Formats: sequence, structure tokens, C-alpha cells
Amino acid sequence: MKVIKMQETDQKSQDNLHDIVMIGAGPSALAAAIYTTREDLDTVLVEKAIAGGMVATTDWVDNYPGFAKGISGLDLAEQFRAQAERFGAKFEFGEVSGLEIDQGDKNIIIRLADNGEDLRAKTVLIATGSSHKKLNIPGEDKYYGRGVHYCATCDGAFYRDKKLVVVGGGNSAVQEAIFLTRFASHIDLLVRSQLRASEVLQHELDKFVKSGKITIHLNTSPDEILAKDEDVVNAVKITTPGKTEILETDGVFVFIGLLPNTNFLQNSGVKLDDQNFIVTDNNFMTNLTGVFASGDVRSGATMQIVSSAGEGATASLRIRQYLEEKARG
Ligand SMILES: Cc1cc2nc3c(=O)[nH]c(=O)nc-3n(C[C@H](O)[C@H](O)[C@H](O)COP(=O)(O)OP(=O)(O)OC[C@H]3O[C@@H](n4cnc5c(N)ncnc54)[C@H](O)[C@@H]3O)c2cc1C
Repeated sequence: MKVIKMQETDQKSQDNLHDIVMIGAGPSALAAAIYTTREDLDTVLVEKAIAGGMVATTDWVDNYPGFAKGISGLDLAEQFRAQAERFGAKFEFGEVSGLEIDQGDKNIIIRLADNGEDLRAKTVLIATGSSHKKLNIPGEDKYYGRGVHYCATCDGAFYRDKKLVVVGGGNSAVQEAIFLTRFASHIDLLVRSQLRASEVLQHELDKFVKSGKITIHLNTSPDEILAKDEDVVNAVKITTPGKTEILETDGVFVFIGLLPNTNFLQNSGVKLDDQNFIVTDNNFMTNLTGVFASGDVRSGATMQIVSSAGEGATASLRIRQYLEEKARG
């Protein structure tokens, strides 16, 4: 009796075994899925929120090739999803809470939160992206995308000849503040304590300070983002030692760090860098055989839609190669 039960369980595991499970359904996983499903690889994407990832929450995308006039983030996300679905990608909505290698058959077990049924796969692509650290001050969420931004490459061009506030004192804040000088008439850089950017960047920054294009406010934190008629951002309330001020501005860019969505990998054995981004080799494989990663969650990623999609496509080709080699033994 016991033996029969084990056979049934094994059969169930095999029936439930997918070629690839992709964690996340942002541009990186969706691009990968277009490739894998066109090659008849059985592909399931597990998504905890909305197919399209961060793109689906982006107002307007001006820099994705193929759309000369730009495209709304929601429309682009929908195009990605529909294209993957056309070739047979399957979607499951739920949050992945962990990964484990089955020490018997070496397949990968994907655990779902909320007691969802585990998935099993020969390979996994982790493409869970990252989230921007927030200031958590009044006005930040309310005016997000309407004066509050986290991506200079994406939204900087909307601020031609306008005044901007940039928040942060590390490499990315300084780099992005310098980038934004291409558009903005003036930038106020708010630094909570002292600048932490590299010497090279600080040297570069100095040129813009001397020309009057950037003003640095050290030991300064934003307290609230204010808007005219509760609609158009027009000022930031700031605290500097001993006083509170109102700084006029047309927009606020926040660069205080990124948080990769890798919490669920805590006990998985997947190698992370010192910022908790996933470390991969040149084939986008992690230190766990059969587990790949691409897009914004990967250490060294360039955090753009086109590069995330490109990484997903490359990872999918490496996954196919891996599966072929595995099948050949
Ligand atoms: C406001 C804003 C505007 C932007 N504008 C542009 C732009 O104009 N041009 C540009 O090139 N780039 C832009 N970007 C950057 C771009 O959106 C990202 O580089 C791109 O979306 C990364 O794709 P991804 O697939 O790696 O990750 P994501 O798009 O972040 O997708 C990851 C997905 O994984 C899901 N997920 C996370 N954890 C789990 C889990 N445990 N279980 C299941 N699902 C999970 C998430 O819900 C998400 O849907 C913008 C970003 C922001 C925030």
C-alpha cells in the first residue's frame, strides 16, 4: 500500500514538472517567455502583482525602441504579456516564498506563499526586479509620477528648463543629478549628512556647483512634498540644522538606493552580493545549477526596460542550451 502511494506521489510530481518556472512577470521574464514558449518549452510565470512589472505602473515610456512616439507603460506591458501568451506562456498569480532543490531528482521546488500548491521545474528564472527605497514622507506617494520620480533616464526629459530637487548623497544620486542638468535649469541636491559619492563623481559635481547649476544642501532632509492646488508639485519642506525652509521646485527625484526583491531567497542558497542583488555568471546562471536570474534583480543590471528584456532573452537561450545538455545526459 505504501509503495503504491509513493508511486502516485512520484507520478504527480512528474505531471507537475515544468521545463521552466519564471518568478515575476516583468519585461525580463516576459521577453524570456516569448523565446522559451516559441520553442515549445513548457513555461509558467508566477507573478504576485500585475503582468508587466514596473512598466505597468509607469506613466509613459519614451525610450523603448520600436515606439517612435513613445508608449504608455500600461500599453507596453500589455503588449509584452499578450505576445508571451500568444505562444503559450501560462500565468499563475501568487507570491513565491522560497526555492529548494530536490536532493533526489535535482529538480527545483518553487514554494508559494498563502499555502498555494508548490510548483516543480527543471529550471527557474528569477526576474523579480527591485524596488526603489522611499523617503516615506507626506506627498511622496500622492504625487508619484506627477512630480515625484525615481528614474532620471525615464522622466528627466519632462523637466526641460525647470527647477528640480534631487535627494541622496551616494553615487547614483550624484550621477543622476549631473545627468538631470541636461534638462533642468537648476538642481538643489539634498544630502542627509555628507556626500558619499566617489571622489571622481564629487570632482565632476564640483564643476556644476561652480557654474551655479547645482546647489548642494548638506545635513538636509526633506520633510514633505507640497503641491499647488493639491495637483502640481511646487515645493519641498526641508529641515537643515536648526531651521525648516520651503524650497521651490517643479519636481523631486529620489535616489536613496534600491532594494532588490530577493527576500524570498533567504534560505535558498542563491548567492547574493553585498546589496542583496543576485550574482550570476556570464550565462545568467546563479551558483545553483538550473537556477538563472535576469533583469533588475541581477547584480550589475542597468535597470532599463530594454536591457531587462535583453537579459531575459539571453537567459532564455542559455536555459534552452542547459535543458538540451541535461536531456543528453
Ligand atoms: C517610475 C518608473 C519609471 C520607469 N520608466 C522607465 C522608462 O521610461 N524606461 C526604461 O527603460 N525603464 C524605466 N523604468 C525601469 C524599468 O521599469 C525596469 O528596469 C524594468 O521594469 C525591470 O524589469 P524586470 O522584469 O527586471 O523587473 P520588474 O519590472 O520589477 O518586474 C518584476 C516583477 O516580479 C514580481 N515579483 C517580485 N517578487 C515576487 C515574488 N516573490 N513572487 C512573485 N512575483 C514577484 C513583481 O511584482 C514584478 O511584477 C522605470 C522604473 C520606474 C520605477
